[in-house]
Amino acid sequence: MGAVPDITLNDGNTIPQLGFGVYQIQPEDTAQAVGEALGIGYRHIDTAQMYGNEREVGEAIRASGLDRGEIFVTSKLNNSFHEPEDARKAFDTTLSDLGFDYVDLFLIHWPLPTVYDGDYVSTWKTLEEFKGDGRARSIGVSNFQVEHLERLAAETGTVPAVNQIEVHPYLTNEAVRAYGREHGIATEAWSPIAQGGVLEDPTIAEISGKTGKTPAQVVLRWHIERDDIVFPKSVTPSRIRENFELFDFELDPADVEAIAALDRGEDGRTGPHPDTFAYVPG
Ligand code: NAD
Repeated sequence: MGAVPDITLNDGNTIPQLGFGVYQIQPEDTAQAVGEALGIGYRHIDTAQMYGNEREVGEAIRASGLDRGEIFVTSKLNNSFHEPEDARKAFDTTLSDLGFDYVDLFLIHWPLPTVYDGDYVSTWKTLEEFKGDGRARSIGVSNFQVEHLERLAAETGTVPAVNQIEVHPYLTNEAVRAYGREHGIATEAWSPIAQGGVLEDPTIAEISGKTGKTPAQVVLRWHIERDDIVFPKSVTPSRIRENFELFDFELDPADVEAIAALDRGEDGRTGPHPDTFAYVPG
């Protein structure tokens, strides 16, 4: 089994290219799932304020006996807290819930361009404060479209280290990925297997048959070879292990292309559209 590669971010910090996502894992199941993942070898956990399980992520990391510095932890700002004073309080709560004095990466979860008078710029400047005081080692965004990234570039002094967006074979999201490549913003691909929705695709089944790897491994390996960062989610120990075993094989370049050709554009999107998503928890 090869080791998980690190990706170097535009601020010089490194992030393991493969991690473990905890969206939709119930708080009562989170510590066990994260403990399982850490036991298998995952060293990168992706959580968020809106997932409601930061406390349990912190507990599992402490229970693992691993040093805090060995594990890369990401969290994200709740959509309710874009105004600077709210964001500051929410970030304090993230640190106290996790039980850590820093996070490795903190993201604006959604741009919400139709809420807060479309002002995600002051929110970004607030994240710059967290980086400045060292409590967020890196800062980035999630679900930002090209126009949102262009606005940050025009109006602020820090380029996001990452943009975490929906990417999988049915939504390759190429324009946003390309902007990131050109501007030093690493792409993190969320729902990398479309929550299981791409695993029965005949092209993926064929590559799975040819390589002897499972459909999930084929799709996750495809992301790895495209240099994106992924953190598949599962609560099933055998799948958590399967999703980690991606570094003892390679895909033919033609197969990487064949998977990318499954792109359905907007029809392939499974989550909300970032331009219109306006969910703000009460
Ligand atoms: P995913 O693509 O990782 O799919 C997870 C689901 O696929 C599981 O619930 C399970 O049903 C199935 N699955 C997992 N491994 C499998 C395997 N080996 N074989 C068969 N089926 C398998 O979906 P996700 O959880 O939505 O995305 C991963 C992570 O991305 C999340 O946990 C979260 O950390 C992040 N995310 C971020 C955003 C955002 O807005 N920033 C949105 C969604 C997800």
